[in-house]
Amino acid sequence: MNNLRFSSLMEAPVRASGQMETHTSLTYAKITDYYACNVFTGKVIQEYLTVEAYKSLVTSVKSGVKIDRKIASQIASGMRAWAIDKGVSHYTHWFQPLTGTTAEKHDAFFSIDEGVPIENFDGDALVQQEPDASSLPSGGLRTTFEARGYTAWDPSSPAFIMDLGVGRTLCIPTAFISYTGASLDFKTPLLKSIESLNQAATAVCRYFDQRINNVHVNLGWEQEYFLVDASLARARPDIMQCGRTIIGHPPAKGQQLEDHYFGSIPDRAYAFMRELEIESYRLGIPLKTRHNEAAPAQFECAPIFEEVNVAVDHNVLLMNIMEKVAKRHGLKVLLHEKPFAGINGSGKHNNWSLQTDTGINLLKPGKTPNNNLMFLTFFINTIQAVHDYADLLRASIASAGNDYRLGAHEAPPAIVSIFIGRYLTEVLDEIESRVGNALDKQDENTLKIDLHQRIPELFKDNTDRNRTSPFAFTGNKFEFRAVGASANSASAMITLNTIVADTLTKFDARVKKYIKRGETKDGAILRALQRAISSSKNARFEGDGYSEKWVEEAAHRGLSNKKTTPHALEVYNSEKAITVFSKMGVLTPAELRARYEILLEDYIKRIQIEARVLGDLCMNNVIPAAVRYQNRLITNVRGLQELKFEERDWRVQKRILSAISTHVLEIGERVEEMIEIRKRVNKIADREARASAYSDEVKACFTQIRYHCDKLEFLVDDQYWPLPKYRELLSLT
Ligand code: ADP
Ligand code: MG
Repeated sequence: MNNLRFSSLMEAPVRASGQMETHTSLTYAKITDYYACNVFTGKVIQEYLTVEAYKSLVTSVKSGVKIDRKIASQIASGMRAWAIDKGVSHYTHWFQPLTGTTAEKHDAFFSIDEGVPIENFDGDALVQQEPDASSLPSGGLRTTFEARGYTAWDPSSPAFIMDLGVGRTLCIPTAFISYTGASLDFKTPLLKSIESLNQAATAVCRYFDQRINNVHVNLGWEQEYFLVDASLARARPDIMQCGRTIIGHPPAKGQQLEDHYFGSIPDRAYAFMRELEIESYRLGIPLKTRHNEAAPAQFECAPIFEEVNVAVDHNVLLMNIMEKVAKRHGLKVLLHEKPFAGINGSGKHNNWSLQTDTGINLLKPGKTPNNNLMFLTFFINTIQAVHDYADLLRASIASAGNDYRLGAHEAPPAIVSIFIGRYLTEVLDEIESRVGNALDKQDENTLKIDLHQRIPELFKDNTDRNRTSPFAFTGNKFEFRAVGASANSASAMITLNTIVADTLTKFDARVKKYIKRGETKDGAILRALQRAISSSKNARFEGDGYSEKWVEEAAHRGLSNKKTTPHALEVYNSEKAITVFSKMGVLTPAELRARYEILLEDYIKRIQIEARVLGDLCMNNVIPAAVRYQNRLITNVRGLQELKFEERDWRVQKRILSAISTHVLEIGERVEEMIEIRKRVNKIADREARASAYSDEVKACFTQIRYHCDKLEFLVDDQYWPLPKYRELLSLT
């Protein structure tokens, strides 16, 4: 059979058996022997830097103090010496533009100085570069004639050597900003949001512990992904161009038996994971867990949590090396949020917590009453922030891909609710109902004893997990589960940090006001907490977030449920969004507007590409296969008639013939209609209206077209079907 599907299917097992081996000598080495061997950190920096430069770098990483140019030059030459010793010839400023991937432009250390060839890398080259980045999105912040954008070194995320694939490159994590200083990337506002939260949280910490000078944010992400055979993927234009299947009949056996989750890992996937881990360790990404996920061919990995800026860089880097490692194994990684209809999609849980420079996790219930009040303060303020700014959090995870996943009965819904478990619910209820009375009666002590005796029970609460909540408290951290698998976590983290910073700032002001009125410190804190508990209660939900009943109840409670990206992004126009981002010093109104435009444009383009690919698949693959099979049936019926068989002997064939005709007709007409709609929608000048029309009109055509394609896949002779089927894609041998 002369078709890519079958040649791929024949190759797959052969390739699979050849690819069980890992491509590295480190398979059986101790992780600690080579961990971070490609990172400019730890002992290496001591070895390659002067004492002065070393101290300055360490201080800068710890407390964000700026590094002066002279020291930067020393660090640059240390980095160069290290890199050259490791066989590196080029360096690049590595950054994360708003396209969602990473960008790099390589330069050689090699230079010519008065006719003499030398290897050079000075402080200026380390600290700042000016890539010609005119084609990267800027949302109007930068006109093409003023294409200049700068990358600026981020000393808090260590430089690393990328040696996967061909060549070795020294990569320097950088922020990307425009000529006028506007942020054009994820890192710049992330760093600002971390600082803003640091200030707000430290101020609040001081009520409890004067020794706290700094609060940093931790992130532990859990990355879900699918693995499919690379050559089968290549036979699917939709996977290659959209990262997901746009059509495909569900397999007889999907995930109904629930036999994949935590099942034994298929050999081929295991070989991939081992090597991914090894490459990650070499780059200092501290991977900790690996397992199968709920869907067939779906997996997950998660690292030990890290400071959020480094954690985000590590996640972006991981997504990058996943693709490279997969290639070596003849596999393709799918990071799309919904690669297969009817089968669980992929997310990226973001585990978020706050930690003081004295080593205390502010979201961990403490052992002393004072620590517990501190815990409750941060816990309740986070809930309040999520309640008050639910729409912003929803927008922070909006993307064309995530729209297919959110609310698909296997992923958190687009309604941002908070799960905290039974014991904490009781604690909050108790504060809410009793604090006011107790305080009025000057009876703070009774109350405190009650509360604090109960809190140790929280530790038992860790098992009380609710997987259906988009924002859940899990013992010592909050877990934001609605983040898409392919997303840059920075987007969600920027928003979360900013809204919590704002809420803590307001809380601080309120406590000060109560104290001024004559309340004791603890009394003022409790009263402010009571107020926060009452006003944020609406967003707390302990039940099944996937149920229809919750959708109704949420509507009743007045919680928003924005199912599409264009709709979810509208909040960026609101006064509230503009104010919080600019007040917290994270994004100026112009930067926020630019982000909004870029996200809308990204959405439009993705749906546009999907619509085109769907049209192509229908006209070039589906209809031709159906027609070919129809011809075979016609020949068969004619033959039977010639041989004077009875009508009933070709009844089934005729039924299939007419069903095929119906579906072909539907597909043909619907595709034509979709093309007409697209042409009309493309002419809509206003970007917001165009994005909405892409969602409401163009994307709305997909379901019908797909329905008829999938029916044909079911009817047409397997031998004629040109596209690898779900059952083939989803079974890794
Ligand atoms: P789950 O049971 O949800 O799969 P785990 O408890 O194994 O998850 O943790 C998942 C992620 O949460 C890991 O990346 C882990 O490092 C991270 N994590 C654990 N504690 C914290 C914390 N205090 N702050 C942030 N992330 C954390
Ligand atoms: Mg988790």
